[in-house]
Amino acid sequence: MTLVMKFGGSSVADAAAMRRVASLVQAALPGSPLVVLSAMGKTTDGLFEAARAAERGALDEALATLGRLQAHHERAATELGSEAAFLEPAFQDLKLLLRGVALLRELSPRTLDAIASHGELLSTRLFAKAMGHAWFDAREVMRTDARFGEGAPDSEAIAALAAAKLAPKLGAGSAVVTQGYIGATEEGLTTTLGRGGSDYTAALLGAALGATEVQIWTDVEGVLTADPRQVPGALPIPELGFQEAAELAAFGAKVLHPATIQPAVEAKIPVTVRHTGRPEGRFTTISGEVATGRPVTALASRGPVTVLTVSSSRMLAQSGFLARLFDVFGRHGASVDLVATAEVSVSLTLEADAPLKALVKDLSSFATVTVSEGRAIVAVVGERLKRTPGISARAFAALQGINVEMISMGANEINLSLVVRAEDAPEAVRRLHGALIEQPLDGGAA
Ligand code: ADP
Ligand code: ASP
Ligand code: MG
Repeated sequence: MTLVMKFGGSSVADAAAMRRVASLVQAALPGSPLVVLSAMGKTTDGLFEAARAAERGALDEALATLGRLQAHHERAATELGSEAAFLEPAFQDLKLLLRGVALLRELSPRTLDAIASHGELLSTRLFAKAMGHAWFDAREVMRTDARFGEGAPDSEAIAALAAAKLAPKLGAGSAVVTQGYIGATEEGLTTTLGRGGSDYTAALLGAALGATEVQIWTDVEGVLTADPRQVPGALPIPELGFQEAAELAAFGAKVLHPATIQPAVEAKIPVTVRHTGRPEGRFTTISGEVATGRPVTALASRGPVTVLTVSSSRMLAQSGFLARLFDVFGRHGASVDLVATAEVSVSLTLEADAPLKALVKDLSSFATVTVSEGRAIVAVVGERLKRTPGISARAFAALQGINVEMISMGANEINLSLVVRAEDAPEAVRRLHGALIEQPLDGGAA
């Protein structure tokens, strides 16, 4: 039996933070911990910045950014009592990669992954060496497809590889340190799981190894009722259902990568979210056992998104309209989040980077399309949402003066989503938090 402990970027940002992590790992040694680390602090952002500078041909700028990252890593290594020389080969690799990008002025997703993966490779090498733990290359087991930048993990292959290569290294009394976020294709090319993907790694490895628990250690006391940066009075949630957590993550609660919950659900492994700086404090347990029956559990928001409203006067007469409509999105690989239908129109939300021009061109051949960019989705999540009367009335009363452009109850019972202008989203979240969470909303209130 093993325990997966994942520490995010802020938890390993510098030597002092790494010492706190080391003591948490030390205390967990009897549970055969697998320690999954993110890159130090904002290293991944820095690597992206350097790569983009190189792509513009600004090699000096790229190398200067890299130099700052190197100095930061070397300082942490020295402060933790290691020689920093062992970090040098990774930085040499990075310099070569950046020079290549600058020469060609070309940055493919594959090259960007090769560059970005160094963040986690460095943080784990540094931590494992300084603390005397075993280091494991996650790419030996984290098999993905070749969609660079958003590799889709192959859970069956991961389970088999983890059983063969990783499980034998785990044992009570010692820890194994590995990277979040990174993987490899069958041919051994480095991939990443997308930004924030270390949570997903932890859940995938937890499921593959049949872990007792997946701990996500971060900079907040668990999942809160809203993003504390938006709502300073957001409250901790001691227990959360898998479905609620998945919905919050999908709708913007950055505390969990959106795909984290699925492997845990399938393997029935509880996920806890904990504060590295306050290990004795409150935390959230996410599991399938929870049936809190809360009308509203938490709020999340995500943006910017684009709203497309597609109308056709022939819509009612033509039963194939929706099929035709979604075929267009399918062909362009654009994923649709929310859908609301009225008698003669359908509104839907798309990611801001969807191929808008091509979509509008194709849709215009059989419908009238209007486009509203710069919108945000605000999601109200709760297990008993649909069955509690008065929630929408209270929500709309609270939102007076903010234009709600679209409402969607979602396919499931537990999410009520509203679309507002992106600049109104923080205020909308604060007001909804006041009306739906700070004021009790039991049963048929409001
Ligand atoms: P890590 O680097 O540990 O992965 P992240 O920055 O990815 O940390 O996630 C933690 C952050 O998520 C918090 O600092 C908080 O600002 C943000 N966040 C957004 N929504 C929520 C929420 N509902 N509960 C807790 N934190 C949230
Ligand atoms: N380091 C990666 C990122 O910043 C992955 C992670 O931290 O989860 O996106
Ligand atoms: Mg994160």
